[in-house]
Amino acid sequence: MVLAAVPVLAVGLADATIAIRTVGSPGPAHSAVATPSPSATSQTQPNARFTLNDAETKRNADLRDLLDRRRRAILHHDVRAFLATDDPMQPAFRAQQRGAFEALAAVPLASWQYAVDYFGLPSTQRTRRYRAATFAPARFAVHYAIKGFDDKPTSLVQTPTFVHRKSGWYVASFDDYAGSGNPSAKGIWDFGPVRTVQVGPVLVLGHPQSLSLMREIADITAASIPNVTAVWGRGWSRKAVVLVPSTQAELSALVDDSEDLSQIAAVASAEVSSCPAAPNPVGGRIAINPRNWPSLSSLGHRIVLTHELTHVATRARSNSCMPTWLIEGFADYVAYQKSSIPVRVIASELGADVRAGRIPTSLPPNATFDGSSKRLAQAYEGGYLACRLIASMVGERGLVRFYTAVGTSHATPVHAMAAALRSILHLTPAEFTARWQSYLRSQLS
Ligand SMILES: [Zn+2]
Repeated sequence: MVLAAVPVLAVGLADATIAIRTVGSPGPAHSAVATPSPSATSQTQPNARFTLNDAETKRNADLRDLLDRRRRAILHHDVRAFLATDDPMQPAFRAQQRGAFEALAAVPLASWQYAVDYFGLPSTQRTRRYRAATFAPARFAVHYAIKGFDDKPTSLVQTPTFVHRKSGWYVASFDDYAGSGNPSAKGIWDFGPVRTVQVGPVLVLGHPQSLSLMREIADITAASIPNVTAVWGRGWSRKAVVLVPSTQAELSALVDDSEDLSQIAAVASAEVSSCPAAPNPVGGRIAINPRNWPSLSSLGHRIVLTHELTHVATRARSNSCMPTWLIEGFADYVAYQKSSIPVRVIASELGADVRAGRIPTSLPPNATFDGSSKRLAQAYEGGYLACRLIASMVGERGLVRFYTAVGTSHATPVHAMAAALRSILHLTPAEFTARWQSYLRSQLS
C-alpha cells in the first residue's frame, strides 16, 4: 500500500479514521471556580464540617486563585501575569510556557476555563524532585472555545503538577504523570508559533512554515462545505476548524490518538458521550497528516476534506457505538458523490477480491478500520458500497434517515441497526448482508 504510487486510489486507504475520544466528566459545564469536592481528609471525618483540613482548604483556595489569574492572563494576552503562575525555580519550563503562551495568542479565543477536581494523585519520583509540597489533581481539564467557530467549548484533559514555593503555589509541569497513564492533552500552540488562515466559514490553524498549505486547505475546505450540505441538509454548523500540524507525531498528539496514522491522510476528532447515550459532541476538529498529504492529488485532497467535513456535519447525529462501516461509508458516499470517479476505481481493492471470488461474509467489522488494519482499504470500500446500496434502494434522503436512525438510537448497537434496517429498508440484518454481497458482485465484477 504505497500512497505515492496511486494518489487518487489511495484516498480510500489513506482516508481518515474517525477519532472519537470518549469523555466522561469533567464535562464542559464545569468551571474553574467550582466548589472543591470533599478532600481525602474529609472522607475520614464525614461530618467535620467546621474542621476541614485547614492546609487543604487554603491550598484549594490558592489554586483557584492561581488558575483564575492564569485564565485571565490568557484571555487578556498578559504574558507577565501568565508567567507569574509558573514555577519560578524552573527556567526551562518557563521558557516553554512562554512559547506556548505566545503561540496561543494567535488563536481567537471566546473562552478559556479550567475544570478541577481537588482530589489529588499520589506523589511520584518525578514530583518529589521539586523538594517541595506538590499537588496534582486527579481530574483537570481546559475548556476553550474558538470565537465564531465553537458553539460549545472543546476540552483538553490534562494532569498538571502544582508546586508550593515560599511565595505560594505555581504550575510546575504538565508531564509528570504522562508515564503513569495520565498524559496532558496538547493544543497546536504547544508545538510552536501559530498562524491562522480564515476563508469564510473555515478557520485553519498551523505553523508559520505551513502558510501556503494552510491557505490551500482553507480554500478546498470552504469549497467542499456546500457538497456536504447538499446531501446532509442544513442541519449542521457549516463551519470547520482545520489543524495543520507540521509532523505526523504532532498530529498524533493533537488528536490524542495512539493508533497507527501512517496510512491516514486526515482525521476528524470530537469528544462524544459514551454509548449508548444521546450524541452530544463538542470540539469538532479536522486535522491533516502532513506526511501523507503531499502524496495525494488535488482531487484526493478534495475528497479527503469532504469526507472529514461529513464527519463534522454528522457528529451531532452519531453515537460512539454505531458501526464504523456506516460512519465511514457515509462520509465516503458524500465525498465521492461529486467526483465522477467510477465505482470500480473507488473500490479497487475490494473489487479485486470480488473478481477472485472472495466475497466478504459480513459487513466490515469495526476492527478492520484500525489504522494498522491489513484490510483497511477493503473496509472503507465495503462501507462505501453499503451506503451506496442504501441510497440506491431508498434514495439519498433515505440514506440520511437511515444514518440518523442508527446514530441517534438509544438501543444497543445490534438492536439499533436491526431496527433501522427493518423500518427503512424492510430487511433483516441477514437479508441486508445478502443484498450487499450481490451488490458487490454486480458493481465490481
Ligand atoms: Zn472518516
